[in-house]
Amino acid sequence: MKVLVIGGAGYIGSHAVYELIRDNHEVVVMDNLSTGDETFIPKGVKFYFGDITKREDLSKIFETECAIKPFDVVMHFAAKLIVPESMSKPLEYYHNNVEGVRLMLEVMTEHNIKNVVFSSTAAVYGNPVKTLCEEDDITIPVNPYGASKLASENMIKWVCNAYKMNYCIFRYFNVAGADKSLEIGLKKDNLTHLIPITVQTALGIRDKMIVFGDDYDTVDGTCVRDYIHVSDLAHAHVLGAKYILNNNESVLLNLGSNEGYSVKQIIDEVSKYAKVNYEVGPRREGDPASLIASNTKAKEILGWIPQNGLSDIIKSDMEYRKKISNE
Ligand code: UDP
Repeated sequence: MKVLVIGGAGYIGSHAVYELIRDNHEVVVMDNLSTGDETFIPKGVKFYFGDITKREDLSKIFETECAIKPFDVVMHFAAKLIVPESMSKPLEYYHNNVEGVRLMLEVMTEHNIKNVVFSSTAAVYGNPVKTLCEEDDITIPVNPYGASKLASENMIKWVCNAYKMNYCIFRYFNVAGADKSLEIGLKKDNLTHLIPITVQTALGIRDKMIVFGDDYDTVDGTCVRDYIHVSDLAHAHVLGAKYILNNNESVLLNLGSNEGYSVKQIIDEVSKYAKVNYEVGPRREGDPASLIASNTKAKEILGWIPQNGLSDIIKSDMEYRKKISNE
């Protein structure tokens, strides 16, 4: 396959690029490097600096590349994804996450590119009505991040229907860990996600961390999430792209583990390596109590088998953080 990876220098996008290369596909990356890192793009992969919200940037890539050989699949990772930030900056989220997707689809249709793989999120479910979220459950997001992704999901479905295209929409649960090469991982100055923050606290990079609320209706009062290793997630994208291309049909799938862990359970797991100092603080705005995926459909349809459990994910994040702290 020839695949355009939009956002391919970012955390999840770069892992998808690594998995595509390992499976011998031709990869072109577009990224505006707002959160991405150019050093994450492997040698030999063609890179275009460009912004998904700028039509001329998208057009240039499609015109240049499709004249050589059309893309079989476009993968979209170029999204803003921080729940608390989305609460204070909803317009930025709608602009980047919805307008960016609209432009991408417009340029795809102009160039007759038929297959799109889209990163969506468990946040579309809002406060789930069932313990395990299934793909046809009701979607009522409780933050602008989830709302922006749901708006894009719907747009993709209508556009694919009108232009006889195929989509593979993945609803990610909580992604963590790093590639086994340790060349790429979640590398940011202002981390907000639980696992890297807990690992940094264990490594002494932070003095302490805050647990955002312990009065939720969960096993120990702290929020429950479903954690998935980034390489398992990335591998699902290769399978998903092949699936829609070969079967000429669309799919919408959760990517998670069927297991939920509370914030305190994550702290306990990381504490096996070193002490984690924490304090309980107030709830964080926009946080649902519990989000756990049913991953039956992804396993059945794609034959996807996640290889890493929670302890592997934490070990992987720990190894990556140790490596980059020595750089
Ligand atoms: N969390 C926390 N302390 C932190 C970071 C996160 O208690 O320093 C909690 C957060 O409130 C949520 C869970 O950990 O309940 C997962 O948050 P994260 O930001 O990692 O992912 P999200 O589920 O928001 O996408």
